[in-house]
Amino acid sequence: MSEPALILKPGREKSLKRRHPWVYDGAVERILGEPAAGATVAVRSASGDFLAWAAYNPASRIAARVWSWHEAEVVDAALMSRRIDAAIAYRASLPIDSDAKRLIYGEADGLPGVVLDRYADVLVLQLTTAGAEAWRETLLALIAKRLPQCAIYERSDAEVRALEGLPPRVGLLAGRLPEVITIHEAGLKFEVDVVRGHKTGFYLDQRDNRRCVAAFATGRDVLNCFAYTGAFGLHALAAGARSVLSIDSSAEAIAQAQAHVALNGLDAERCEWQVADVFQALRRLRDAGRRFGLIILDPPKFAPTHQMADKAARGYKDINLNAMKLLVPGGWLATFSCSGGVSAELFQKIVAGAAWDAGVRLRLRARLRQAPDHPIDLDYPEGEYLKGLLLERVD
Ligand code: SAH
Repeated sequence: MSEPALILKPGREKSLKRRHPWVYDGAVERILGEPAAGATVAVRSASGDFLAWAAYNPASRIAARVWSWHEAEVVDAALMSRRIDAAIAYRASLPIDSDAKRLIYGEADGLPGVVLDRYADVLVLQLTTAGAEAWRETLLALIAKRLPQCAIYERSDAEVRALEGLPPRVGLLAGRLPEVITIHEAGLKFEVDVVRGHKTGFYLDQRDNRRCVAAFATGRDVLNCFAYTGAFGLHALAAGARSVLSIDSSAEAIAQAQAHVALNGLDAERCEWQVADVFQALRRLRDAGRRFGLIILDPPKFAPTHQMADKAARGYKDINLNAMKLLVPGGWLATFSCSGGVSAELFQKIVAGAAWDAGVRLRLRARLRQAPDHPIDLDYPEGEYLKGLLLERVD
């Protein structure tokens, strides 16, 4: 064995045999050779059996991420190219009513640490691991060749890069950015700021849920909490909501949401806006005697890791409890969690506890999740992060 390799402790090969693509540093018995961060290493069991080819990162708790399960497969530009093609072909097979979609979603597409989002003719590339970083030039060249009509902007500024020992990096990599990027989602237009917007610019993962929830907005007073640039509210307005109150702590986001109402020729008089902290705003709305027929709660990630689940649970309980108190009988609540550290099961328990304390009875009408361009691989449950409950007040 001359190639660099990670030899696992006895018994620690089990998760890899089930094709889970991470090797935690605690599972590693010894390292053969002196692989640099991002280098491809063989992962072997204590008895020397080949398990996978993976990208090594000495700086991360996740010491290696799998590129391939096959000993005969070479980790090279051709492998990257095949993975990119498969990821793009999968999205082409989906009935996505938008020119904005996630084309590559990390591990679920066999490309750990690589995210590629398309906003009309602008691609946003986000690399979050040492392995992805090592293949940066190759990935960039392949993506540019595959989609030559697109500009490419890098947003490798996600916080998770710090856990991998990588500094943030942003900037234009190919083509030119148009002054304004306008996307079209289910008949509505949105402007996306890929340079300063959240994530890579827009919450693509909520695309299907926005339409699903808007179907219950007709004739109702809607409360859109954590509105960002207004997407849920815009869809509700278009579906005939009587009024929409949008709340976000970011004045910039609310200004963009207001611009979206005008851009789509929707009725500004049916809109109300608050730049406020949702935790406080919900209490003020209750004191003011306000009631709503549809409430959306789409907060930011309260718990990126399981260690933070307790604190997150208190946050979720608080906003859900206070939102439920504003719900008219027969009203609808669409409540979400995008915390990887809070499971769907735990989230439902928290919401059930909130309903009990609020004194309302809620019927679970649908479980919601991330749109299918953010695929979930059964071998990699960590890829499932967005979960939602669509609830109807029945008392
Ligand atoms: N629903 C949106 C995405 C929401 S992202 C969509 O479909 O596009 C979460 C939003 O919550 C961000 O815009 C952020 O500015 C806002 N936010 C974070 N903490 C907040 C708080 N305590 N009160 C109000 N808004 C908050």
